[in-house]
Amino acid sequence: MRYIDKSHRCLQFDEYIIQYTPSSWAEFNGEVKLTLHQHLWIEQGTLCIYCQQQVPPKAEKQASAQIRSHIEHIHPRQKFPQFIFEYKNLSISCEGFDCYSTAQQPKREFCEHRKGDEYDSARFLNPIELQDIESYFEYDFEGRIYPTAKDKARAEYMIDILNLNHPTLIGMRKSIYEAVIYPDNPLDIRSEFPFILPAFYSMLKQFGLI
Ligand SMILES: [Zn+2]
Repeated sequence: MRYIDKSHRCLQFDEYIIQYTPSSWAEFNGEVKLTLHQHLWIEQGTLCIYCQQQVPPKAEKQASAQIRSHIEHIHPRQKFPQFIFEYKNLSISCEGFDCYSTAQQPKREFCEHRKGDEYDSARFLNPIELQDIESYFEYDFEGRIYPTAKDKARAEYMIDILNLNHPTLIGMRKSIYEAVIYPDNPLDIRSEFPFILPAFYSMLKQFGLI
């Protein structure tokens, strides 16, 4: 995870909330929801808030089997209804599998789908609140993520509730790392669009590759 600066609000979303005052998330729909999704996606450098895999842009109309990300409430809706429309609580999470998988609907096994309504305030490391959140985690060259000595218990809690050592994620991290350092033809992780960050940004940063 990396810190996400929430100071650039989505104005269309703010205007919608003032005008329509929806009483539940189910009531919040239409074009503004897609606008918000795209705004959050750019805000996060196109990466999942939790695992940092790259998520594809959301199209206007998608069959459910094609959906690869969704708007995530970091404080879960069930436990924290007061934050349902709080901009600082909204983010983009992957669907719990490799978002570029060719399978139509793989099993949802990590990130938001694993976390569900879990949120222990004493232990949760919130990427919207902690500017130094990257320093709680470290990686090895095999693609695994570990807690650092900074606060082992809280980092372990996050790795566990998000299943950040899921074999799919380990494999994805390892293959990005190996592609970047491939001696003959290393993967170029720079994008022509400055807002797009490379997948597993914090890992590559820890290895000094960006
Ligand atoms: Zn994810």
